[in-house]
Order: sequence, then C-alpha cells, then structure tokens
Amino acid sequence: MSQKIFIKTFGCQMNEYDSNRIFDSVKKIGYEKTEKYEEANCYLLNTCHIRDKAKEKVYSEIGRVKKIFRSKKKPLVIIAGCVAQAENQEMLKREPYIDLVIGPQAYHKINDTILNYNKKKKKIEETEFDAVSKFKYLSKIKNEAGKVSSFLTIQEGCDKFCHFCVVPYTRGPEYSRPFKQILDEAKYLADNGAKEIILLGQNVNAYDNQGYRLSDLILNIEKLSEIKRVRYTTSHPKDMTEDLIEIYKISEKLMPLVHLPVQSGSNKILKFMNRKHTIEEYLSTFDKLKEINSNIEFSSDFIIGYPGEEDQDFKDTIRLIERIKFINSYSFIFSPRPGTVAENLNLIEKKISIERLEKIQTILFKNQIEMNKSLEGKVIDVLVENLTDDKSKAFGRSEYMTSVIFNGKKNDIGKIVQVRIKDSNRNTLFGEVITNSDQKVA
Ligand code: SAM
Ligand code: SF4
Repeated sequence: MSQKIFIKTFGCQMNEYDSNRIFDSVKKIGYEKTEKYEEANCYLLNTCHIRDKAKEKVYSEIGRVKKIFRSKKKPLVIIAGCVAQAENQEMLKREPYIDLVIGPQAYHKINDTILNYNKKKKKIEETEFDAVSKFKYLSKIKNEAGKVSSFLTIQEGCDKFCHFCVVPYTRGPEYSRPFKQILDEAKYLADNGAKEIILLGQNVNAYDNQGYRLSDLILNIEKLSEIKRVRYTTSHPKDMTEDLIEIYKISEKLMPLVHLPVQSGSNKILKFMNRKHTIEEYLSTFDKLKEINSNIEFSSDFIIGYPGEEDQDFKDTIRLIERIKFINSYSFIFSPRPGTVAENLNLIEKKISIERLEKIQTILFKNQIEMNKSLEGKVIDVLVENLTDDKSKAFGRSEYMTSVIFNGKKNDIGKIVQVRIKDSNRNTLFGEVITNSDQKVA
C-alpha cells in the first residue's frame, strides 16, 4: 500500500519552503502527497511560534486530526517547525497522539526518524541546531517545487535578538548557505520551470558566505536566462548595505518592491526593542533607493502596543507611514513570547493597542487601495503563475507582488504578459491582457 503524507503549514514563507523540502525528502522513502486528511498515513504539521497562542493552535489542530481518525487507523503524527523546537519533549508528554517532534534545523534526519519509528515505535524528539548538515543533505535532494515563482532559502537563524522575537531561539544562530550550493539550486529550479526566485532568510540581507553577499547572489541568479524576476525577503534595516542598494542601479531582474520591516516609527521604541538602527538611518536607505529609482516602493512590518509605547511614539509611527507611503504592510499587536527579553514587560492597555492597530491599519489599507486605484487604466507587466480555481481566468503578480486576475490562458503560465488594469480592490488588480501594440506604463 502506498504511503501518503498530509502536510499542513502554518506561518511564514520559510515554513512553506521547508514543507516542500520535507516532502522532497520523504518522497525518497515512498511517500506521496495527499490534500485529504482521511487518506493520510502520515500527518505532518509545520508550526509557527512567532505570535499569539502558537502552542494552543497546534494542540487544537491535533484535536481535529484525532476526530477525523477516530474510527480509523491513527496516522504517524509529526510536529515540525518552530513550536516543535521551542516545546520539544514537552509535546510528547502533553499529547500522546504525537509520535515525532522535529525542529527546523534537523530536517535532514526526517527520513531516518520516520523509518526508525516504523521499526521500533519509539517516540523521538530531534531538535539540535545543525544547519550545516541540514543544507548539505538537502542540496543532494532536488528541489521539486516546480512552481513559476519558487522560494529558495539562502540564510537561516538570527543573531540580532530583538527583545520581542523568538526566532533566535527557534531557528538558532545566523547561518548562510554556501554560495555555490544556492546557485546550483537556483539553476535546478530554473531548469524545471521557475521564472521567479524569491530568496528567503530570517535576515536575508545579512547573507555572508566567504565574502559573497546577497548582492552577489542576485547578480548571479539573474544571469540565468529562464529567470525573469528576483526578489528577497525578509530584510533587516541594519543590513541594507551599500552593495545591496547599489545593485538597484544595474540589476535587470530585481523587482522594485523592498520589504523592510521597521516595527515602529519611534527611536525610543526601536531602542527598547533592541532593533539596532534609528529612523534617520531607515529614512536614509529609503532616500538612497528612491534616488536610484523613484519607482521603488516599500512594504513593512509593524508591532503595535510594544511595552512603553506612548501616544507620541505611535504618532511617530503614523508620521513615518505618511512619509514613506508603504504600499503593503503587516501590522500586529505585540504578543509576549516565551523566553524573550520582552516576555515579562508591562503590557500597555489592550483597548489602546486595539485602537492604535485599527488606526494604523486604516492608513496602511488606504495607501494600498490608492496604489491599486492609481493603476486602473494603465498597462502593467504580469508574471502569470496559474489559472484561477475555476480555470476561467489567469492569476499572476505585478512587479510589486500584487495579485492580478485577468482573461489569460493556460499557455500564458510562466510568461510575462501585459495586462490593462480595469478595476481593483485592496488586494487584487483585475484586467485584460493586451496586444503588444499597446504601451506599458507601470
Ligand atoms: N527579521 C525580520 C526583521 O527583523 O525585520 C523579521 C522577521 S519576523 C520572523 C517577522 C515579523 O513578525 C516581524 O517583523 C515582526 O513584525 C513580527 N513579530 C515578531 N515577533 C513578534 C511579537 N512578539 N509580537 C508581534 N509581532 C511579532
Ligand atoms: Fe527576529 Fe528579525 Fe529581530 Fe532576528 S532581526 S530577532 S528575526 S525580528
């Protein structure tokens, strides 16, 4: 009987990449993917620990799986990702339905762990930080993502220790993959249908391998003729080095959207958070990039209601948003994380945080809507990724990562087509593909 694995992924793009790579690995021991819970004889939950009741979400998801399998043979249950790292042994004790716990830097052991379990039925927890062995192992297993837009992790972990963040504890110390290993993976992705590569890292712009920086990777990856677009995320403002800024002058495939999380517009709060840069430095990066290319736009992450945030600090955040006009952003109320410096700080009143979040989101969403509205009537380049679920339209993305739905066909997939935008809402542009005689303006 064939083995079927159901993989559910919570959290960031890196988890998505990891889930794909886990599947690339377990394929070697005979697993096929299934999208149906009931069919699975292995259930893997790739977890996220960044905010809120991460742990509780995992246990409630397990409760769901238990219900589905109540009258059937129990699947092998594996918890991967950052909650697995943070909770390790505890998970096996608290929930006997869980069989294996495997942290993000131990995925190279997944096949052996499963095979061992099948033989000995011994529950196990693998949570050592061993990024070197992990990527060495994964580099021997092809990345079979096979997507028009493919993720490629180049860097993991973090040494910055922002006071609110669990990443340094769950993903371990900063590690940059060998330069050549990454170029080989990019080439393989390109040979197998990728047209866009999104380079990933917790601090992607801190990438440093024997002197090779993110800028070197971008310039080398864009030499691959099949690749039409290159992006990178997530960057830390402190690591926006001159070489990275300068390549916006010469790169032909680097997209003009810079995701640069700032968290707060107040220097006082940035200091409390241990962010290691000031708003003036952030603005200087913004100005330099805008001077190179005024079409470059910014997106960001904000934490609202960080302990110590006063009215003036919040106003400073609004002022920054009004100055930069971020076109897309994530904003969340501060969520105390176990083990971090900010875990036990005095929280500000919940009602105030909620009000501030609503205020900031109104402004951020307005920017987003205005940006999309400004494109109505214009012609933009769209990289076509897929057909819509009902197959009646095509789905792609603009240079600024905005979803575009238009009257495309299956054979447009993987191509860059010109689309005239007819309508828009906050998250999506709607349009019609045009003939080459029309002019591109954005
Ligand atoms: N390394 C990136 C940086 O430094 O900007 C961010 C990576 S972090 C995994 C993604 C985002 O999660 C952060 O930018 C932050 O806005 C949010 N985040 C992290 N910890 C949080 C917390 N304790 N409460 C609320 N949001 C949090
Ligand atoms: Fe977390 Fe980013 Fe700060 Fe690292 S730099 S601790 S990943 S927020």
